[in-house]
Amino acid sequence: MQTNEIIGLENKYHMNLYNRIPLVLERGNGVYLYDNEGNCYLDFAAGIAVNSLGHNDPDVTKAIKDQAEKLIHGSNLYHYESQNKLAKILVGNSSADRVFFANSGAEANEAALKLTRRYFYNQNQPKHEIIVADRSFHGRTLATLAATDRPKYQKPFQPLPTGFKVVPFNDLKAAEDAITPETAAIMVEPVQGEGGVRPASQDYLTGLRKLADEKNILLIFDEVQTGIGRTGHFFAHQAYGVEPDIFTSAKALGNGVPISALLAKEKVAKSFQPGDHATTYGGNPLVCSAALATVNKIIQPDFLSSVRETGQYLKESLENLSEEVSWLGPVRGMGLLLAVKTGDKTKELMTALRKQGILVLTAGEDLLRFAPPLIIKKEEIDQFIKVFKSLVKDPAFNRINL
Ligand SMILES: *Cc1c(COP(=O)(O)O)cnc(C)c1O
Repeated sequence: MQTNEIIGLENKYHMNLYNRIPLVLERGNGVYLYDNEGNCYLDFAAGIAVNSLGHNDPDVTKAIKDQAEKLIHGSNLYHYESQNKLAKILVGNSSADRVFFANSGAEANEAALKLTRRYFYNQNQPKHEIIVADRSFHGRTLATLAATDRPKYQKPFQPLPTGFKVVPFNDLKAAEDAITPETAAIMVEPVQGEGGVRPASQDYLTGLRKLADEKNILLIFDEVQTGIGRTGHFFAHQAYGVEPDIFTSAKALGNGVPISALLAKEKVAKSFQPGDHATTYGGNPLVCSAALATVNKIIQPDFLSSVRETGQYLKESLENLSEEVSWLGPVRGMGLLLAVKTGDKTKELMTALRKQGILVLTAGEDLLRFAPPLIIKKEEIDQFIKVFKSLVKDPAFNRINL
């Protein structure tokens, strides 16, 4: 089919929910993507921080093929070796004791909220309020939308579940002041993703842990974007040395197959009993085999240290550029989740990069976000920087107001 024919079908048959980029992606290999017209793109987006091992990783592809030939799905009425091996790895390499597999980030977060309710219900305590941070993003279901600080997105869907209180991110005092006898949990992203790639400060997360302990409330980390190696650590909470009571994982977990996880400490996890929560597909053998192959590679210390190294290299390269070009704002982020403030020309820069064969993300309206596959090499970062540099130094982009 011709490109315009394919895009025409979207316009005719899909609900009008995405402002898609006019590219028809057809295949990928490593850090490169190819469209249906044979054009090649260097991928600095990895889906949306999803394909951490890049595209067509031989081990993940083989795991999917082998599993598809054996059994795709069988429901959570039965046991699966891949599901249990994956559970063991996630628990053995994080602060959690138990896991529940779901299909998407929002679903894992929704389950985290249900687990919180169940925990306090079991204690005969009526706590139900959740403190969240400004510019948070936790998903698009009704409850996770209520937890997301986007009044504009929330408005058409009211009434939303109540009990969410928004406080400024990285402000420990504000979190402390917001706690009432009704407060059940504080939920934050260790590095805010959609809200602008803002890492939590060490004092903030350490302080929240202490606060949660003192006030008998739960600490929930949404690691949907930061988990599975993205920050150069298997989970971001390990970089901070702070153990949440509950955390969630999704995006990179299956390198592109839909799988997410809710993880929790035993004292909390044990509040769930059969019937409290469930999913039809969640953690089926197909996605668990893909996730197992993914996690087995990312968990390797050499792999994670190389993510820290390339992340640092990309950060420094961007910082050098930001120093040279007056209108580029500061660089922020952690590992290979980075962003630079590009002001009101963000969209134009993203388009210009694509036309030169590089795909990036935005975060909000004034930041370019970079989340390449974690296997990216320094030479490929150089390749990106060269193109990015020529663009930001182009006089056409010099009149940008931040
Ligand atoms: C992407 C994201 C979500 C939502 O994940 P979905 O799979 O789209 O439901 C939730 N929280 C964070 C931090 C995310 O980055």
